[in-house]
Amino acid sequence: MNNNDNNSPEKEETSEDKSFFHLPEILKIDFDKPVPFKQQFAFMSTVLVISCLLFTVVYIQQMFAGNIASAEDGKPTSVANDEVSGTPASDTSSSAEKEEKKPKKQQKKVTKISTVGADILKKMTTVERTPDDIHKGSLILVNKDYSSALDGENITMLSEEKSDSYVLSDNTVGVDAEIIPHLNSMLDDFESLYGETDIMIACGYRGYETQVSLYNDELDDNDTEGDQWVAPPGYSEHQTGYVFDFDLNLADGGKAGINYDGEGDYAWINNNCGEYGFILRYREGKEKITGYLFEPWHFRYVGFPHSEYIEDNDITLEEYMELLHKHDDEDVILMEDHDGHQWCI
Ligand SMILES: [Zn+2]
Repeated sequence: MNNNDNNSPEKEETSEDKSFFHLPEILKIDFDKPVPFKQQFAFMSTVLVISCLLFTVVYIQQMFAGNIASAEDGKPTSVANDEVSGTPASDTSSSAEKEEKKPKKQQKKVTKISTVGADILKKMTTVERTPDDIHKGSLILVNKDYSSALDGENITMLSEEKSDSYVLSDNTVGVDAEIIPHLNSMLDDFESLYGETDIMIACGYRGYETQVSLYNDELDDNDTEGDQWVAPPGYSEHQTGYVFDFDLNLADGGKAGINYDGEGDYAWINNNCGEYGFILRYREGKEKITGYLFEPWHFRYVGFPHSEYIEDNDITLEEYMELLHKHDDEDVILMEDHDGHQWCI
């Protein structure tokens, strides 16, 4: 028929023009007839090869996006890749994948800090401590809630080891031997700046029994405010040996009570004690935290650089302890002292 003869060559031409490449004869399957085995095999092989190629392409793309490596070995590779390339891999990923990446970025932060910590730990010397040691040492916290486990250990009479830049109220004033070089050096520096001074150490270590009589006397004299000035026996910092009170050795005897107020030239001591390992223990405005009224004469040795941190940040030992408990060797407190040295606490 004419119609058929005219149409079929046209159809063939169109299909040839539109197809991108010629399909091999073997893959041209007529499903109306039984398919020979050779042709079935060729068709299945082609499908398999194309699948493998597609899988490889997707795998490589995902690997560069970081999703595969991090899922397999748990390392934050995707974060590292993001950092190196500077392009967020989320360009090609769905919103669900974006959400998955948020915790990975947090993971990087932790890793960074722990790397710093591990680095520092390598340079540190390990000192073994027993549970008993918790109640010893110059950072010990003694206040109305925590009594002193120390009483008279390592006490040295200041009369034996003091420098000439200060005097003592009497020869029985003693402190923990550890603090004497620091006390001498602070008051020597003060004297070299301001000349001879009236500085006197009125009180250092006070044993439990002494505190009993002092506390009872104070309550008898002033029963309303007594415990804001004098600690109950066992709860006085003076029992640790890490504490002393300044007074002034004035020619006329001065006023009754303590004459040292930490003002005038003496402000230098109150402002710089942190560099020598000391802190002003009962600060102005911190009465509710320490439980004591402001005492500009009462100094406590905590050791450097803790002392400088506490003084510079105008905090109490109670607040510093709280801060220490929030940190550990993987999340250290970093500070730079006045000489520009870096410290990890
Ligand atoms: Zn005191």
